[in-house]
Amino acid sequence: MSVLVVAEHTNEQLKAATRHTVTAAAAIDPDVHVLVAGRGCQAVADAAAKIAGVKKVLLADDAAYEHFLAENMANLIVGLAQGYSHVLAPATSNGKNFMPRVAALLDVAMISEITAVESPDTFVRPIYAGNAMATVQSGDPKKIITVRATAFEAAAAEGGSASVEPVSAAGDSGLSGFVGRELSKSARPELTSARIVVSGGRGLGSGENFKILDQLADVLGAAVGASRAAVDAGYVPNDYQVGQTGKVVAPELYIAVGISGAIQHLAGMKDSKVIVAVNKDEEAPIFQVADYGLVGDLFQLVPELTAELEKAKKAAH
Ligand code: FAD
Repeated sequence: MSVLVVAEHTNEQLKAATRHTVTAAAAIDPDVHVLVAGRGCQAVADAAAKIAGVKKVLLADDAAYEHFLAENMANLIVGLAQGYSHVLAPATSNGKNFMPRVAALLDVAMISEITAVESPDTFVRPIYAGNAMATVQSGDPKKIITVRATAFEAAAAEGGSASVEPVSAAGDSGLSGFVGRELSKSARPELTSARIVVSGGRGLGSGENFKILDQLADVLGAAVGASRAAVDAGYVPNDYQVGQTGKVVAPELYIAVGISGAIQHLAGMKDSKVIVAVNKDEEAPIFQVADYGLVGDLFQLVPELTAELEKAKKAAH
């Protein structure tokens, strides 16, 4: 039977997490369909149809899905699930919101945040904040799965030529309503998809001091993240948090500044390709996962690093 991927998007743009999830789906069965549910999202459906490996796109264009409310999304997906052996969504805030509801309505187990597909019924997923990986086998007739996008390569954005078929909306459940959304605006790349992430911890000492990380991030074209201690201290907003209870990132380069490397922080960044740590304590656990370590005062080292990178950048032009 076919596999259905629920697309993550903004109603205008398809998000990269969808393409990573398509790769996971294709490892289960090559007949991958994508559901685009939203409002005014034809362009998203067209983009989904071009993803390499996607065979069909289902478009549910209705006001009920504009804000991806879990109750409405779940009703739609449950209705469509009949034709599919597996339904997958990226483990984003949206996917984590509606997929458990889908599983409950279908009376099957939720299989959360898989990082590998062993076979169509067997998957690998982190447990104990990523300290151990569990291989789980599901005997349920339908598998409802969220996918840790960073664990799978993105399917190519071009190469597919799937048909786009409208599907009827399941309507508004009336159980919840959308009140408002406050989005933080940043000229920087989005944290979970950035190629380079510069993160700061309690060692920064204040929100004002995060400016030195901003300068480093500007030279590198990086996103800025933070430890929970930095967020809890009010240095930076909540959406900067990397870790077990924050965002999971796996960029090509992760620079941890003034972060001790608590297990809950590592859970969100240890799969980064190259890890650089700047810390004055040479015993800090972050150095156990770091590929490169700078032991010293961040207030001296980070501006020096930024200046050297600026010089190198100018020399390259
Ligand atoms: P600290 O541990 O205080 O480390 C600060 C570091 O800065 C130290 O290593 C110090 O040597 C260094 N430093 C200080 N001054 C300087 C200087 N001038 N120059 C260089 N280095 C300096 N944490 C997360 O990050 N993300 C999560 O998602 C998360 N989830 C959690 C969930 C639970 C259930 C629990 C219990 C905890 C969670 N935590 C999380 C918190 C985690 O346990 C740590 O408390 C937190 O990560 C510590 O943040 P930190 O490294 O910034 O601070």
